[in-house]
Amino acid sequence: MKHFDYIIAGGGCAGRSLALRMLPYLKTSNKQVLLVDKTRKIENDRTWCFWEKQQDVFEPVVFRKWSHLSFVSAAEHQELDIHPYQYKMIRGADFYAYTGEQLSESSHISMIQGNVESISTEEEKGYVTIDGTQFSADYVFSSIPRIRKKKPDRYQYLLQHFEGWTIESKSPVFDEERATLMDFNTTQHAGTSFVYVLPLSSTLALVEYTVFSENELPDAAYTTALKQYIREQLHCEDYDIKEREKGIIPMSDHPINPGEGRIIYLGTAGGFTKGSTGYTFRFIQKHTAAIVSQLLKSGHPYISAVSPKRFETYDATLLHLLSSKRLSGEEIFSTLFKKNSSRQILKFLDNETSLMEEIRIFKTLQKKEFAIALWNRSLKLIKAN
Ligand SMILES: Cc1cc2nc3c(=O)[nH]c(=O)nc-3n(C[C@H](O)[C@H](O)[C@H](O)COP(=O)(O)OP(=O)(O)OC[C@H]3O[C@@H](n4cnc5c(N)ncnc54)[C@H](O)[C@@H]3O)c2cc1C
Repeated sequence: MKHFDYIIAGGGCAGRSLALRMLPYLKTSNKQVLLVDKTRKIENDRTWCFWEKQQDVFEPVVFRKWSHLSFVSAAEHQELDIHPYQYKMIRGADFYAYTGEQLSESSHISMIQGNVESISTEEEKGYVTIDGTQFSADYVFSSIPRIRKKKPDRYQYLLQHFEGWTIESKSPVFDEERATLMDFNTTQHAGTSFVYVLPLSSTLALVEYTVFSENELPDAAYTTALKQYIREQLHCEDYDIKEREKGIIPMSDHPINPGEGRIIYLGTAGGFTKGSTGYTFRFIQKHTAAIVSQLLKSGHPYISAVSPKRFETYDATLLHLLSSKRLSGEEIFSTLFKKNSSRQILKFLDNETSLMEEIRIFKTLQKKEFAIALWNRSLKLIKAN
């Protein structure tokens, strides 16, 4: 059986982020990695947006960044000054091409295409079966999606489902300097729904319709919502659709086991999708950076949690509130953005605020509704136990 120091199963965002960050460590320690994915990863299958203060390892593939954002609800239009953050966009195809190039140049990484059939662990080794052949490693990192048996009596399960179009208009309609983070001026029938607009030039933008609800919508519903928004809010009648993106991100407070034995889970499979927002990219970066720094320090990849535990309760409470429909997402986010500085909100959503900062934010929110959601969520857990 062929043995590697590390096997990275799944070469999407998390697998490649880890592999790229490991490169200097692999060189100095002379270790070997097998990176496997079932696809070739050449398609522009998603666009990642996130905010950050500094430049990180993927700065060379940042496609666009904005220092100014807008938040729009039926009642008001807020211009958000997000300094010192910048809102950034990375296209999947650029990320895969860049990482593919860097990783294939290294003599410490073997990249293969194959279907991972099983992953298992013993005390001293992990095992991965790829297309019928078993490989072993000191440690296995996996971002391969894991199917969780739902426990609706205990936890909340919502989906963030969306369709986005990159549209090119015949005349200039977009302000290149300002992206729209959320615009609630769209039908709210299916659940909390908003559109975000990421302008790439005065005539080109990614316009994405997003819904938080238990089920996806029929295809035609996304089309109708996007057409209506482009016509009524962007006042654009004459445009071509250059690209389409469609996706689902799970939003749940169902706990996820971060690893077992010699297996460490990464990305969405490792629980790094924030339950209340679906943002994952930055959490993947923090997690993979922490793993590499641990490897450098101690030679093993086991790390303590990337975010303080209390953020799980905040996410669960917000999910509970959204599911209960006692308050709409529009009401919650409008209040949040109106009464707090954008910098504080972004820091909070990054799970990086202090308890004192969080208390200050909570004081500005709809206290009664949040308290009821917290109480109902606790009651649900107590009953289920
Ligand atoms: C369309 C879309 C847009 C998103 N936009 C954002 C965003 O703007 N901001 C943000 O923070 N998050 C976003 N997310 C959420 C999250 O960041 C992404 O899903 C991210 O790609 C998760 O990284 P990952 O490595 O966990 O999973 P993936 O990137 O999906 O990687 C998993 C990999 O495993 C491979 N794989 C699966 N099964 C097997 C198998 N049996 N054998 C071998 N390989 C296998 C897949 O081919 C894939 O490459 C988005 C998600 C989607 C779907």
